[in-house]
Amino acid sequence: MGLLRSALLAGSQNAWLREHAMRTAFVRRSVSRFMPGETLDAALAASRALAQAYGLGTILTNLGENLTAPSEAEAVTAHYLDALERIRDGGYDTEISVKPTQLGLDLDPDLCFRNLLAITGRAAALDNFVWVDMESTPYVDPTLALYRRVQARAPAIGLCLQAYLHRTRADLEALLPLGPAIRLVKGAYREPPSLAIARKADVDENFYVLAARLLGDEGRRAGARLGIGTHDAGLAARLQAFVTETGAPKASYEFEMLYGIQRGLQDRLRAGGWPLRILISYGEFWFPWFMRRLAERPANVLFVAKSMFR
Ligand SMILES: Cc1cc2nc3c(=O)[nH]c(=O)nc-3n(C[C@H](O)[C@H](O)[C@H](O)COP(=O)(O)OP(=O)(O)OC[C@H]3O[C@@H](n4cnc5c(N)ncnc54)[C@H](O)[C@@H]3O)c2cc1C
Repeated sequence: MGLLRSALLAGSQNAWLREHAMRTAFVRRSVSRFMPGETLDAALAASRALAQAYGLGTILTNLGENLTAPSEAEAVTAHYLDALERIRDGGYDTEISVKPTQLGLDLDPDLCFRNLLAITGRAAALDNFVWVDMESTPYVDPTLALYRRVQARAPAIGLCLQAYLHRTRADLEALLPLGPAIRLVKGAYREPPSLAIARKADVDENFYVLAARLLGDEGRRAGARLGIGTHDAGLAARLQAFVTETGAPKASYEFEMLYGIQRGLQDRLRAGGWPLRILISYGEFWFPWFMRRLAERPANVLFVAKSMFR
């Protein structure tokens, strides 16, 4: 892992840096490139704008991780239940994405299960859909168990898997018989080489192999659905070619990209008629998330530095 990337990911966990950075005007200015605002209203307004200008659907996620009290997890749950109602009332083509630790995974897996089941049940009743984010490696087993428990009762749920983990190939095989909706991403956390593939080219290849498995005959027979969560133009092109060759139906996959990142690629996919959904983050607790975005592309650090002088 590059030194800068490593330092940024370590910084994302630093409480002192978080307190100071979040109050600094130029950091807040830089964040606005990746996040339309801190409130649900701002995220919904951005969803409306993307739908009206480009016909794009969105996914909303309220930033925040590792809570300290069950009441906080319940407040997050209430927030998402309300968000689902507002999405339906406003006629938005907008799904939601949740972090298990925000729903209480650290505090009590049963509490987290009840919260996620409530959200997913409400989503199903409102004809909507819930994505579950994947966090750092200590949470992978509890998140897989959580997903299985909820999916058995309320199937309007999809799960993120990270192509950089050695274990993901086996995790995917174990999930395949469930006909899962999987959002595949490369992975955004700082993990040791014993757990995560070290070479970027190998992560990219693993992403392709896993995606092809879900898009291929067996994935299709099982009823799997794939969210292709990447901004990597080369990987996207390889998967477009795979889809064209195999005739994978449009309903079985979509590209999913983060708001404000690789807009040129977003435009090209959209113009070519490829299904694309944009994930919009909002919320006050954006610091660790923002640092992970910087770590994904060190040139972004230059962009933040330039914002200092604007
Ligand atoms: C919809 C979605 C949901 C996600 N959910 C999760 C999750 O639950 N758990 C998790 O661990 N990770 C998640 N991620 C993040 C993911 O793991 C990667 O860290 C991130 O997508 C960067 O990898 P990449 O596939 O875009 O490829 P990369 O090879 O990192 O990037 C490809 C190209 O995209 C551009 N790019 C990538 N990132 C940025 C950026 N931040 N700013 C500017 N340009 C950039 C660069 O030009 C780069 O050359 C999610 C990503 C997406 C798109």
